[in-house]
Amino acid sequence: SYIKNAAACKSLLEYPIKGQCEARWCSTNTCFKGHNMLAPFTPGWQTTEVNPLVIVKSEGSYVYDINEKKYLDTLAGLWCTALGGNEPRLVAAATDQLNKLPFYHSFWNRTTKPSLDLAKELTETFTATKMTKVFFTNSGSEANDTQVKLVWYYNNALGRPKKKKFIARAKAYHGSTWISASLSGLPPLHQNFDLPPPFVLHTDCPHYWRYHLPGETEEDFSTRLANNLENLILKEGPETIAAFIAEPVMGAGGVIPPPATYFEKVQAVVKKYDILFIADEVISAFGRLGTMFGCDKYNIKPDLVSLAKALSSGYMPIGAVMVSPQVTEVVYSQSNKLGNFSHGFTYTGHPVACAVASESIKLYKERNIVEKVKSISPRFQDGLKSFSDSPIVGEIRGTGLILSTEFTDNKSPNEPFPPEWGKFNFLFFISYQISFANINGGIGAYFGGQCEKQGMLVRVAGDTIMMSPPFIISPKELISKYGNALKATEEKVNSFK
Ligand code: PLP
Repeated sequence: SYIKNAAACKSLLEYPIKGQCEARWCSTNTCFKGHNMLAPFTPGWQTTEVNPLVIVKSEGSYVYDINEKKYLDTLAGLWCTALGGNEPRLVAAATDQLNKLPFYHSFWNRTTKPSLDLAKELTETFTATKMTKVFFTNSGSEANDTQVKLVWYYNNALGRPKKKKFIARAKAYHGSTWISASLSGLPPLHQNFDLPPPFVLHTDCPHYWRYHLPGETEEDFSTRLANNLENLILKEGPETIAAFIAEPVMGAGGVIPPPATYFEKVQAVVKKYDILFIADEVISAFGRLGTMFGCDKYNIKPDLVSLAKALSSGYMPIGAVMVSPQVTEVVYSQSNKLGNFSHGFTYTGHPVACAVASESIKLYKERNIVEKVKSISPRFQDGLKSFSDSPIVGEIRGTGLILSTEFTDNKSPNEPFPPEWGKFNFLFFISYQISFANINGGIGAYFGGQCEKQGMLVRVAGDTIMMSPPFIISPKELISKYGNALKATEEKVNSFK
């Protein structure tokens, strides 16, 4: 059977090595090469030619693959399982609701109790500014799609049909539906999809380390970016700009906390031209930054807020749009004139998702999650930032329980490592699970592979690796594994020098 299975793996590895192949790739029930799923954010169509990492179980901050290998999940799934992998209270909330009422919709003024309870809970929990209404979606992308439609509807209601353009930022991530991918400022989300459409504009990415001018302070950098934003608004015509959207801390674009005074300055510009401010809190909400919301941390006073992910600790798909009284007022007063607000999803306010989200919020409050993150995060941040002196580290940045490491040569933002330096040798490939980042090569991918080898999963994007662990993480193990992976990666780089 070994020979038969080895032959099956030929197209993947060209030549399997006895024992390794059988152990890792060829036991028929753990090899899914040639599977039928079209995988998201996975390189090209080679997806099915490579065995995926199949996760079958989670436990606290750990997940287990189909071969029973245990990994510390430093990304909390996809920045979402804030309460860890097997929180019994969330399982019970889902089970109870499934037994009571697994589904009813929220169209035509019919709805369910869990959705009403959650809407109330959210408007009470968010205190950066007053929010009066909540619209439920299934995801963060749908929340941001909804934002665009809501803002257009709002400006139509106000008789301002030209005020329709959105300004987002380079390197933002707002989702992957047609509109939310357009708002995102990451080229791969646009390329080959004919995006973005002309109503979406992008302004500067607020990454001080990478983009500041010689001698420019963080405050000066923020002033320059706010001026650039104002110039863009004036060039396009303020009467055409509807909204500005921003993540309090940029997430998928590389974990980029804002430079000092940034939000103060851009908010002043946006306000001056009667442009709505949308805070995309899909990653930053519910304690991740050491405050209940990112808006609390950076004194952001948004008109609209997008939520998802930790809203249900990732246990159920749910997103939400929170709406300020001012926007609500216009939409309400004009909706008869405009007709229905004809927008909604079958699963808007899904009772099971809402019940789990309510229980998550209850747990964040009961367990004083903000204080907990505040007490863990210095160990997490300082422990990892102590590696900043490594010659292969350009920058380690983060706040609260979110952090990234960007690998560059000579500590310069402009000296990336050659991608081929990160390629794994053949023996490494067959000994350990291949993640797609590894296939792409690059030093970031090499680091990610070294983490995987030790039983730790990180997010790899080019030569940046990112972490946003569950709030129950104990940083010691994470830091120790990070240190080992860094040492191995330094050795790899040295072998080329
Ligand atoms: N907004 C932000 C800031 C995100 O990080 C994400 C996902 O990572 C989204 C929106 C999209 O959320 P979803 O993947 O649930 O559609």
